[in-house]
Amino acid sequence: MERRRVIFLGPPGGGKGTQARKIAEKSTLLTISSGETLRREIREQSEVGKLAANFVESGLLVPDDVITGVMLEGIKRLPPGAGFILDGFPRTVPQAEALQTGLAAMNMSIDAVIDFTIDDAVIIRRIVNRRVCTKCEEPYNLETRPPKVADVCDICGGALTQRVDDREDVITTRLGAYRAQTAPLVAYYTRLGLLHSVTANQPAERVEAEIRAILESPLSK
Ligand code: AMP
Repeated sequence: MERRRVIFLGPPGGGKGTQARKIAEKSTLLTISSGETLRREIREQSEVGKLAANFVESGLLVPDDVITGVMLEGIKRLPPGAGFILDGFPRTVPQAEALQTGLAAMNMSIDAVIDFTIDDAVIIRRIVNRRVCTKCEEPYNLETRPPKVADVCDICGGALTQRVDDREDVITTRLGAYRAQTAPLVAYYTRLGLLHSVTANQPAERVEAEIRAILESPLSK
């Protein structure tokens, strides 16, 4: 893959996590998911977890400095030269600016931003049908990708659950946060010449093919 440092941008339920897993499985790219990282910190009741818990559970964005610190640490810990996908980070313009500065200090920069475009009605339906494994976080969809055995993860046998922030009332807050705070990143990364859009409202294999085509296209720099 020519484009090795990639951001997955898009609303909750757009399929960023599913696609990050698919692409990482068949490439050398490593994924750092901000949502998964925060949920792990919350489970472990770490300092970051305690700071983040109320925000995550109510569907609000955690403060920029908290998530930026966690994600830059995650990037620093990757093996030298590793390519990566940032799933769910940055989600605000200040986070994007802090990422640019942090990467520059490590002599790195972003090669591409993949924007997942999808309608709200589809998002809500996807999220209310979403279940995730409590052990490995593999995502399922009760309509389009049910587990082989009800409530059990096909991959690791863990119990499936519905995230507390996937309830319909919290989804509205998350979509509001996306529109107000994250959507401006589309213009931000367009200005930097890094934005590529994919139509996320299609079967996962089609979305994956669109992403691969972007990541495998030659870098212009
Ligand atoms: P996700 O799994 O990506 O939907 O993220 C779940 C929740 O984690 C979000 O609703 C936020 O509360 C929090 N979160 C994840 N990424 C970020 C971020 N980049 N900035 C702020 N909060 C975040």
